Amino acid sequence: MTTANNRIVILGAGESGTGSAVLAVKKGFDVFVSDKGAIKEKYSEELNSIGVKWEQNKHTEELILNASEIIKSPGIPDKADIVVKAKAAGIPIISEIEFAGRYSKAKHICITGTNGKTTTTMMVFHILTKAGFNVGLGGNIGKSFARQVAENAHDHYVLELSSFQLDNTYTFRSHIAILCNITPDHLDRYDYNFNNYRNSKFRIGDNQTAEDIFIYCDDDNEITEHFTEHDLKAKLIPFSYYHEVTDGAFAQDGTCHFISKENPQNNFNMQIHDFALKGIHNSYNSMAAAIAANALNIRKEVIRESLTDFQNVEHRLEYVATIGGVEYINDSKATNVNSSWYALESMENPVVWIAGGVDKGNDYAALIPLVKDKVKVIVCLGIDNSKIHEAFGKHVDLIINTMSAEEAVHVASKFSNKGDTVLLSPACASFDLFTNYEDRGWQFKVAVKNL
Ligand code: ADP
Repeated sequence: MTTANNRIVILGAGESGTGSAVLAVKKGFDVFVSDKGAIKEKYSEELNSIGVKWEQNKHTEELILNASEIIKSPGIPDKADIVVKAKAAGIPIISEIEFAGRYSKAKHICITGTNGKTTTTMMVFHILTKAGFNVGLGGNIGKSFARQVAENAHDHYVLELSSFQLDNTYTFRSHIAILCNITPDHLDRYDYNFNNYRNSKFRIGDNQTAEDIFIYCDDDNEITEHFTEHDLKAKLIPFSYYHEVTDGAFAQDGTCHFISKENPQNNFNMQIHDFALKGIHNSYNSMAAAIAANALNIRKEVIRESLTDFQNVEHRLEYVATIGGVEYINDSKATNVNSSWYALESMENPVVWIAGGVDKGNDYAALIPLVKDKVKVIVCLGIDNSKIHEAFGKHVDLIINTMSAEEAVHVASKFSNKGDTVLLSPACASFDLFTNYEDRGWQFKVAVKNL
């Protein structure tokens, strides 16, 4: 098979694939898009409008394996047949982030981690917007980075990067990197090897230089114990909830101290109860976002105000309503044990906990002390709830199985009293009963409002 030297094939025609096509056309490549599933009409129409050939529900090898380079959407695993064949054929495979990064002259503020990416990304974006920066928001959220680079190049980008997006980056540079935390998740995509998953997160720092900064959680051993395995050149800036640091941010007796060793005039303090988002996990997110803003020399008044008036993102510890003195909270985005740990940790009232769904190999042991301490009833919302019964059967008085959001909310309301909190924080994926976590959260909210 002959290979043209400017043929780019894009696998997957979602937002990232279509955005890549827009950029690739603009840069003069011969572009072909192939999706093994059905392509949404808005994307196929867009591809038509820019003259890009595409196919759906199949991968035609003759049209793919002649590429000079392949841009793979983050949802396609390395084990997919066509990816294996492309690799065997020696075709370089890159991600949208790598491709767009080649044409971006902007400063990239990039956020990764197992949990907290979206929240922290939105916070950084909020601060930069308030400070009047010309800033784009992308990566896993909203418009793809590639599309924005093609259409309206900003001079700063705040990018949420999942490990799947970091895989297949090779030269992409994060000028400011934030690594929120690393706990087990998505191991099915990493050969059930936690080291592989961790390494993938650390890629965010791979191409940084000594002028860049790498912001990280100093309380997370999975980060701090593995620095030496990575050749990080950036300046490391920690944040901690539990101990003092001399550069970065830390909490002490209800106050958060922000310290910039390089620019001490940027130092400032804030009361933690003034942070708009509650819970230790959100204090971490606020610290990380503020360090990034501080490094960009944004005025402390702007940072302070932004952390105070930030509006939480839907489905993340989202207050829904108080009915009959019972508070209802939607944390449907908690799809792993660690995020539910923080949700339970932040609860101040007795909890009726709605949990369950598709278990990604969860180890619930870490939740037992919190469940013993705070949870009075567990309402399972999933098809197979056996692991939840096994883990918590001895520790709560009652565990009830339900099969829909409506039923779960009804049961939870029946077993809750004035002063309790009903918390949907499933620790599991949603695909057994729902389309995705948003669908689960919306159905929960509708059911609460119908009570
Ligand atoms: P991500 O984009 O990484 O999935 P989100 O900001 O969407 O992260 O939050 C996902 C879930 O994790 C929510 O339930 C949220 O309350 C919880 N969470 C947010 N920040 C953190 C954090 N720093 N550590 C642990 N859990 C977090």
